[in-house]
Amino acid sequence: MRLPTAASFAVLALATLAAPAGTIAAPLPPLAQRTIPTQLPRSVRPLEYRLDITPDAANLRFAGRAVIDIEVLQATDTVVLNAADLAFSRATLMGIAGQEKPARNIAVDADAQTATMDFGGRVLPGRYRLILDYTGKIYTQAAGFFALDYDSKAGRKRALFTQFEAPDARRFFPSWDEPRFRTPYTLSVTVPAGDDVIGNMPAATTARKPGGLKTVTFRKTPAMSSYLVFLGVGEFDRITTRAANTEIGVVARRGNGAQGRWALTSAARILPWYNDYFGTPFPLPKLDNIAGPGSSQFFGAMENWGAIFSFENRLLIDPAISTEASRQDIFETAAHEMAHQWFGDLVTMAWWDDLWLNEGFASWMATKSTQALHPEWQPELGRIGGRESAIGLDSVATTHPVVQHLTTVDQISQAFDAITYQKGEAVITMLEDYVGADAWRRGVQDYVRIHKYSNTQTDDLWSAVERAAPGKPVTAIAHDFTLQPGVPLIRVGNVRCAGGRTVADLRQEEFTRDRPNKTALRWRVPVIAATLGGVQGRTLVSGGAGTVTAAGCGTLVVNSGQTGYYRTLYTPALLANLKRDYARLPTVDQIGLLSDNWGLGLAGYQSAAEALDLADAAPADANPRLVQAVAAILAQIHGMYEGDPRHQALVTRYATARLAPVLARIGWAAKPGEPATVTLLRANLVATLGTVREPGVVAEANRLTAARSPLATAGPLRTAIASIVAQNADAAAWDRLHAEAQAEKNPLIRTQLYRQLASARDEGLARRALELALTPEPGATNSSGIISGVAAQHPDLAFDFAIRHREQVEALVDISSRSRFIPQLGARSTDPAMVGRIEDYATHYLTPQSRRPADQAIAAIRDRIRVRETRLPDISRWFEAKVR
Ligand SMILES: [Zn+2]
Repeated sequence: MRLPTAASFAVLALATLAAPAGTIAAPLPPLAQRTIPTQLPRSVRPLEYRLDITPDAANLRFAGRAVIDIEVLQATDTVVLNAADLAFSRATLMGIAGQEKPARNIAVDADAQTATMDFGGRVLPGRYRLILDYTGKIYTQAAGFFALDYDSKAGRKRALFTQFEAPDARRFFPSWDEPRFRTPYTLSVTVPAGDDVIGNMPAATTARKPGGLKTVTFRKTPAMSSYLVFLGVGEFDRITTRAANTEIGVVARRGNGAQGRWALTSAARILPWYNDYFGTPFPLPKLDNIAGPGSSQFFGAMENWGAIFSFENRLLIDPAISTEASRQDIFETAAHEMAHQWFGDLVTMAWWDDLWLNEGFASWMATKSTQALHPEWQPELGRIGGRESAIGLDSVATTHPVVQHLTTVDQISQAFDAITYQKGEAVITMLEDYVGADAWRRGVQDYVRIHKYSNTQTDDLWSAVERAAPGKPVTAIAHDFTLQPGVPLIRVGNVRCAGGRTVADLRQEEFTRDRPNKTALRWRVPVIAATLGGVQGRTLVSGGAGTVTAAGCGTLVVNSGQTGYYRTLYTPALLANLKRDYARLPTVDQIGLLSDNWGLGLAGYQSAAEALDLADAAPADANPRLVQAVAAILAQIHGMYEGDPRHQALVTRYATARLAPVLARIGWAAKPGEPATVTLLRANLVATLGTVREPGVVAEANRLTAARSPLATAGPLRTAIASIVAQNADAAAWDRLHAEAQAEKNPLIRTQLYRQLASARDEGLARRALELALTPEPGATNSSGIISGVAAQHPDLAFDFAIRHREQVEALVDISSRSRFIPQLGARSTDPAMVGRIEDYATHYLTPQSRRPADQAIAAIRDRIRVRETRLPDISRWFEAKVR
């Protein structure tokens, strides 16, 4: 699964404190020894499912029949399976000899999401067939079986899709809804004859039914987990191509198939590359990627086996609105979800504790394959941003280990965070670099070959890699980084030059933003160092100290290449050398040093202005990714000065002096044949300069919009320009934007217009956006994005509004996001009173097991207040001295 993109076009700051997590879990005992109370009894297991589904789309309900072959392993009085929001009309157990036993009682437990069936006596070990007739709900938010409505030339339309991760398959069919129960599925669906249907497998048969209906039965799947089953129903276009032995398809609203061309050609390049990398070819006959109009607070795309689902903005290119960033995101999203076809679908984690094994690996693989197939995008430079968002969560008390102990449905949903994804990716990046790319790949191939069509735990991967890299303590290092939380700090001490080599003493501490007196945990840390222009030297720091030797004498970079998951703290003298030589360092180290020192400064390890000296030393013709990193820090500082116009003006003037000339050089209009990194930089600079209210850019955005310039009405700058106009809107401009949103028929553009209505700085307009979100007008899946969009500028306003209208607001959010949606609205507040208000909400509406997002929001607020009080003075002095 891929997480949703940020709600607004606001620049993602490098060291934003996103939401961290609950209590620190003890290292996990092996799965078999643990009691997980939410798991089903082990006395029965499913062998195979046949599902017949008849949707009633107009009335948002469906009828289902599940025929499940089961094996009773131990004699039992009841058969218990998962079910949520399902109503049963029949449950029959058939024995081998065909004798039928109707259920005497079906007890549904809504909280436990189970149905317990009593067949009037003990069921002895053996094989049986369970036949269940039931009805269920079609939801209007993207979880379970859900509807997405949209406008088309032929009027209002409704398409149906499924989303089952984490545990929502139980809303579609009664099931053993845990990833370890792998079985084949045969799915049939009865729909109007004019509809198209998509499943995990190609259709096997289509039969005409009375009343203008048809029944499509898909081919039987290989054994797979319940959360990967998929069904899509609607009026679709499907474009296809072939790669290796697989038919690749992209499915979109009818009439919009051509917009899937970029995704289709991308997938056709990625698939053979993965076949080769994994050494096991993609096992299904086809692989579709299905576009859904709308959005979710929980996810952006999902790796259903053979039938990836993506929201349209992650899959379709619409020339009216798509940007270079969307093109690259579509490629990387496909690369992520396709990596899951092996890592997640073919080999699946046994339980959600190891979710990171899916997500960290798929995130890492997406960057790896993008690097191979689009080196000109320089995705390895983007990895540093991922490392920073992980460290943001991982350096405060509410963090959690990568491998964590999960029990409840809420906890499982909350596990989809930056630690699971980005720390997971960072740890894999570090380990791959430590054992070498070839050994790592041999380990991965071995792991896939041994465990295909079955379930694993994290240690299965480490064993495979360790076998491929004999003599290297892979498992030990991996355990340090995945079973304990937190971020190592490598303090560089004495550095000396002897015999043409540089030797540096290293001490390992722990990087923390909120516990200065914490006793450091111990990690074995693979450290790489290099002098300027020299060959890298390597060491494994263990027991808290080490030395690293690098060829040559001169300015030393520790974490050279930036593949390590740790912060590096230099002495003032070493940092001075780095500032002096900053312009001559490799780009990856320029970005890494900038973000590392920015993080250290905000945490209080050194002056927060040190990073600004580095930013200031970036050359005028710096790599576009470095310019973006500088821009992100300036935008973040501008935000820290909210309510202090004098200092905001200083930041704006500095940003103007640094960034406006870059924008002037590359121009507002794209040049034919320019590098993609420049196209990306243009949109980023326009957005950032708009965010810091650079007068020239704000005026130009307004002028282009008023003149209905093609730059403002369509194409790659449309979003950035419209966002600036929306942020600075007065009532008249807001009304114009609102009218435009109401008239818009294209769901992709419509969603964005409603998000922009939420971004006004004016508080009165923000209130109007909140009121609008409670009306049916924006559409079921757009409203929650409006509320979180308002929270980016007005967290207190949005939080209080959501509390006042709690039940209405919760209905606008998908089930998987409910426990975190409201607390996160308040997370950007700088008002100390917000801590108590979130606390209050958690006490009333969250269980102790689900309050992690509330604790994370509280930690974020405290951190923001601390930074403003203690870190901002250094920054103020720097700008006062710099800007005249
Ligand atoms: Zn994923």
